[in-house]
Amino acid sequence: MVLHVYNTLSRTKEEFVPFHPPKVGFYSCGPTVYNYAHIGNLRSYVFADILKRVLKSDGFHVTHVMNITDVGHLTSDADEGEDKMEKGAKREGKTVWQIAQFFTDAFRRDIGLLNISDPNIWCKATDHIKEQIAQIQKLEKKGFTYITEDGVYFDTSKLEDYGKLAKLNIEELEGGARIELGEKKSKTDFALWKYSPKDGTKRQMEWWFDGPHAGEVVKSLANAPGYEGSVGFPGWHIECSAMSTKYLGEQFDLHTGGIDHIPVHHTNEIAQAECALGKKPWVKYWMHGEFLVIEKGKMAKSGENFLTLQVLLDKGYPALAYRYFCLTAHYRQQLAFSFEALDSARASYERLKNIMAELVGKAPHDAPGDEEEEIGKEYENEFREAANDDLNMPQALSVLWNVLRDEKLSATSKVALATEFDSVLGLDLLKQEEIAIPDEITRLAEARIAARKAKDWGESDRIRDEIKARGFIIDDKKDGTYGIKKA
Ligand code: AMP
Ligand code: ZN
Repeated sequence: MVLHVYNTLSRTKEEFVPFHPPKVGFYSCGPTVYNYAHIGNLRSYVFADILKRVLKSDGFHVTHVMNITDVGHLTSDADEGEDKMEKGAKREGKTVWQIAQFFTDAFRRDIGLLNISDPNIWCKATDHIKEQIAQIQKLEKKGFTYITEDGVYFDTSKLEDYGKLAKLNIEELEGGARIELGEKKSKTDFALWKYSPKDGTKRQMEWWFDGPHAGEVVKSLANAPGYEGSVGFPGWHIECSAMSTKYLGEQFDLHTGGIDHIPVHHTNEIAQAECALGKKPWVKYWMHGEFLVIEKGKMAKSGENFLTLQVLLDKGYPALAYRYFCLTAHYRQQLAFSFEALDSARASYERLKNIMAELVGKAPHDAPGDEEEEIGKEYENEFREAANDDLNMPQALSVLWNVLRDEKLSATSKVALATEFDSVLGLDLLKQEEIAIPDEITRLAEARIAARKAKDWGESDRIRDEIKARGFIIDDKKDGTYGIKKA
């Protein structure tokens, strides 16, 4: 079965053929660690995780790289506004280094809870200043840069196909609403390197750049009048082209992010990388996840719409119920969040887990019949077809439900198929959560066994009902033992 993915570059579903099969080089834009990730951000990483799992189940050998943005991302995705990290540090009364570490740890915990597997390589922007400067210097040598009062800029007019990813209409953009250009020659030009403020305001990051890592390279960049030897920080986009190239080579297969990255961040990544490296296409497939929206707005890291995974956990939702919720929509469709919608996803997810628990119990006594192999293969094909059709997870989930409802299949076959599907879905379908059984329930269960031994069936049924009324179910096994489950 052949994987097809929707490539934002061509706006079509294309057959996925990597540069060097079966190897796949895959880069995901990671979080900016100035605050917790919200559940919208996390939806983007569930999408990237499903992509990776589908690639693996298709036999590809994936090298996945994800960055941590800990410098350079300004409050507007263009080159304006405050540095998000400095802003976060001020808000928390900590250093930028402390908040970067804190929110990186929080992010890694969240993705772990959502069964999003770690990338093979994590890379921090601040650990790769040298690589970023080297790429800027390449661009400088090739004549793609110019220097202004406040930094080194990429000259987008030097590039015929600038904006091809977003299908930007440059003329319309230039003629559109006025924005403060400063010394920028064109609205689409963007900063590769920004100088520290001339007025002497100290940025926390600049000490670092002033240190041994910066050296001559920064100084050679900072040759604008009045800026000789000054320090600064990289623009946001250069980190991703520099680090992905370092770990995945000058051309690689896949790059993902949320749809907001199309017009600015990824457009600029492509421009600078293709010009610096002289390779086209720099990346073969660009894939973008649609937004999680809330009450007709987008979820942002500030304001009322800021919901974290912890908020859901505090309200008693299992993390994987949120993962299930994400899988109910295709990654290229907007997904509207509400607690009602999450409740219904949780109910389905819990039903799924309960069915699986029952099937696992039944499987040893319910061996497959001869005709089941054929039926099982058909379901496997249907599942793989859905997954390979641009990661159609709603369809894949419906195949799973059909398997569980199929009366022709034994418990053993159902468990085998669900286990296989779960390597893509990542829902821990077979993992039984430890449930705390209150002592009184255990005592009632024992009293019921005593009543059964005494053949007092009326009392035994009464206790069973009482246990149920308290939220638990007794599961009698064939060998005379029993289990206790949550109702
Ligand atoms: P950031 O930490 O702001 O750099 O964003 C991390 C990732 O989340 C990026 O890939 C964004 O495109 C993505 N993202 C931001 N907001 C949303 C949202 N509401 N729904 C889905 N993805 C989002
Ligand atoms: Zn990026």
